[in-house]
Amino acid sequence: MKKLAKNTELANACFVSPAGEGIFEVAGKGTQYIVDLKVKSCTCRRWDLSGIPYSHAIACMREDRIAPEDMVHSCYSIESFYKDYGNIIVPCHDKKEWHKMNGRPIEPPLYVKKVGRPPKNRRKQPYEAELKKGGKKMSFIVDTVENLDTTKLVVVMLKQAYHQLRRLGKR
Ligand SMILES: [Zn+2]
Repeated sequence: MKKLAKNTELANACFVSPAGEGIFEVAGKGTQYIVDLKVKSCTCRRWDLSGIPYSHAIACMREDRIAPEDMVHSCYSIESFYKDYGNIIVPCHDKKEWHKMNGRPIEPPLYVKKVGRPPKNRRKQPYEAELKKGGKKMSFIVDTVENLDTTKLVVVMLKQAYHQLRRLGKR
């Protein structure tokens, strides 16, 4: 497992002092943690939350010669996977073989016309509104663009070029 390998590597930076009965004090990156191998817990809570031993615990397992793979939660096992996906979806009979239930026919909901004139302009994206407000600087656009997909990026750049050309034409 990729995550376990990464945590194993991080375990090299942990200093372990055994307290006995599977309990350890672990120092890593200026903070101290308490690991209890018997209840599969560490005070940093990473192991408790993910079920995958974090570096603190792996460092302790080395001390006790326990393989970290054996301490991973059983929900990650192949057996659990097969159990979860073991059920089948029973195939459906042909429509001709369906029984008539004589229930109420299912109709689409009635259309209710909304009050007022429907809006003519589409709602602007937040970044478009910003652009219109005060000709934001390029850095803002770059920041925004990092969160957009390519299509939107092209639209933004075309708009900019268009306004630039108009400005030049007015001079
Ligand atoms: Zn920890």
